[in-house]
Amino acid sequence: MNFPPQKSVRAPVFFWRGVLILLPLALLAGLGIYSLRQDRLLAEAEARDRCQTLAGDYARAIVLSLQNPAPQAFSEITLDANGNLLAIGGSRSRAAMLENALPRPLPETALTPEQRHAWQAARTAESMQKGDAAALFGKFIVLGPPTPFLTHARYSLALLRAANRDPAADDLLRQVEEDRKTFSEGGLPLFLLAQYQRWKLAGPGRASGESLCSNAVEYPTLISPLLLASAPADSVKWLQVWQRDEAARNFFQFLQPALTNNAWRRGGFWVHWQEGDWLVFATQARDSISLAALPVSRVAAAVKKAEPSGQRQASYAQPGIELAGREILKSDPSWPLLAAAGAPLFSGSNLTVSERLARPDLLYARARTRTQWFAALILVSAAAAAFGLISAWRGFHQQRRLSEMKSNFVSSVSHELRAPIASMRLLAESLERGKIADPGKQKEYFGLLVQESRRLAMLIENILDYSRMERGGKKYEFEPADVAALVTDTVQLMRPCAAERSVELDLRINAGAGAESFSCDSLALQRALINLMDNAVKHSPPGGRVVVGLDGGAGGLSLWVEDNGPGIPAEEHGKIFERFYRRGSELRRETQGIGIGLAIVQHIVEAHGGRVAVRSAPGQGSRFTMELPRT
Ligand code: ADP
Repeated sequence: MNFPPQKSVRAPVFFWRGVLILLPLALLAGLGIYSLRQDRLLAEAEARDRCQTLAGDYARAIVLSLQNPAPQAFSEITLDANGNLLAIGGSRSRAAMLENALPRPLPETALTPEQRHAWQAARTAESMQKGDAAALFGKFIVLGPPTPFLTHARYSLALLRAANRDPAADDLLRQVEEDRKTFSEGGLPLFLLAQYQRWKLAGPGRASGESLCSNAVEYPTLISPLLLASAPADSVKWLQVWQRDEAARNFFQFLQPALTNNAWRRGGFWVHWQEGDWLVFATQARDSISLAALPVSRVAAAVKKAEPSGQRQASYAQPGIELAGREILKSDPSWPLLAAAGAPLFSGSNLTVSERLARPDLLYARARTRTQWFAALILVSAAAAAFGLISAWRGFHQQRRLSEMKSNFVSSVSHELRAPIASMRLLAESLERGKIADPGKQKEYFGLLVQESRRLAMLIENILDYSRMERGGKKYEFEPADVAALVTDTVQLMRPCAAERSVELDLRINAGAGAESFSCDSLALQRALINLMDNAVKHSPPGGRVVVGLDGGAGGLSLWVEDNGPGIPAEEHGKIFERFYRRGSELRRETQGIGIGLAIVQHIVEAHGGRVAVRSAPGQGSRFTMELPRT
């Protein structure tokens, strides 16, 4: 018969199973790490966007807040497009007045010779305090001189009349007051002087000095402080305005070099004035430019006012503000910059609001929680995968070992069966052919035949028992038995076997063992004992000694078999009870056996509620003890 050529059978490999278990985990971890990274990048990008908007809004709000300065800030210096001073205190006429406050002699060439003559006569009489000065001024006025001379003449005449308590003085002064363009030769506005004189002339019960004070402030002159001082009751608030304007004027004086150098056009600058730092910057009005100057404390207040409300701020970011080259709000430069935005103070742009990442823990809080969850998930999956891998690995190995042991078992069984059958056949054939004539020899042959068949029977009995145990079909029948007698009989039974190997059998039954009526399956117990004794005899050297002992106590019996064979290393004490396990390699094994003896012993003892203990070490023999509890 021809068998088809057989494919070589590959040994099962564990590698791919491991890959299948670990691959999903690796994929999950890779995907997770990638998506966590994306998460982080997204959070960062969102933060940058948000901070950009925040910084821009903040910068614009600061500019607005600076351009609506608090009172008492210098916001009233007005320049023309070229940076020339137009007004201080917001009033053009006042600035013009300041400009005109210079000595200006009257242009006598504008007078006719007759008028000039009359004018000079009146002036001389006035300076010499002659009595006809009033009449001379009257004559001059009648000549109809040009306005500045007329106003001057009226004013001088009014003063002369007033000195004589002439009520016509008031009328003259009122006329002078109407001309706001004429100045005294010392550069003082005559209308203001006239107003002062009228107010003084009115005496007790006169009208309030409010208008006088407001004019004194509105048209600043050297005598403004004097005028204000003359009407103290009405001047308190105007005095304040005056002082503020004075400060502005002084400040302007101080700023003059910077203004000519156009520093304000670059968007703002800092100056140190009167023991404090001031921010000077320009704002565009409709047809002029107005300079504002704020002390540093007010700048800080304006910045504070512009601060975005709590909900609009990003909890993780910290703003930093730089204004005209000075850090108004500090932030740590080592924090990563998220965004920066500027806003022009004037035409330049030297306000920068930056947002830095101060609390990365808050920004990445969500990502971190997710990372923690993911790490936990990966850990649990890894643990599960590791557990799966290990148990699969163990299962795989057990399977492999079992299948190896099974195949060894088959070859051992065939070998163990063949040997006694062969020797029995040889003995029986020799007897049958009548070759053995000597009756002594014949008896020995028959003895050997009995022994071999007993061994065969024992082997088969063991195999059958084992297969019953495997199928779970093994039944134990418990009944009281005399274990001491059972042990004695069994030792007797095994004597020929031991003798065959020149091994001495010794029996030590403890008299007080209390084994006369012990509930057990006596047949099974005997099988277990035979197996232990068979092993002990098998492993004993020729001339060795096997001791079988029975001890007892209140708890139960302890049945042991001891030999002085090669012993078993501690690490194999567990394995020898496994089915099909035999020590050493198949080829080098010296003893007979199929590897189920001890498994059967253990099964039987456990069925009795006991356990088998082994005490053995290489070179020191072995002692197997069956501990059987009393039920
Ligand atoms: P078998 O004897 O058929 O090989 P067992 O299950 O009875 O199978 O024993 C398992 C193994 O334990 C044996 O192969 C042997 O190596 C070892 N063993 C058992 N009893 C002894 C002993 N008394 N001394 C040394 N080794 C022993």
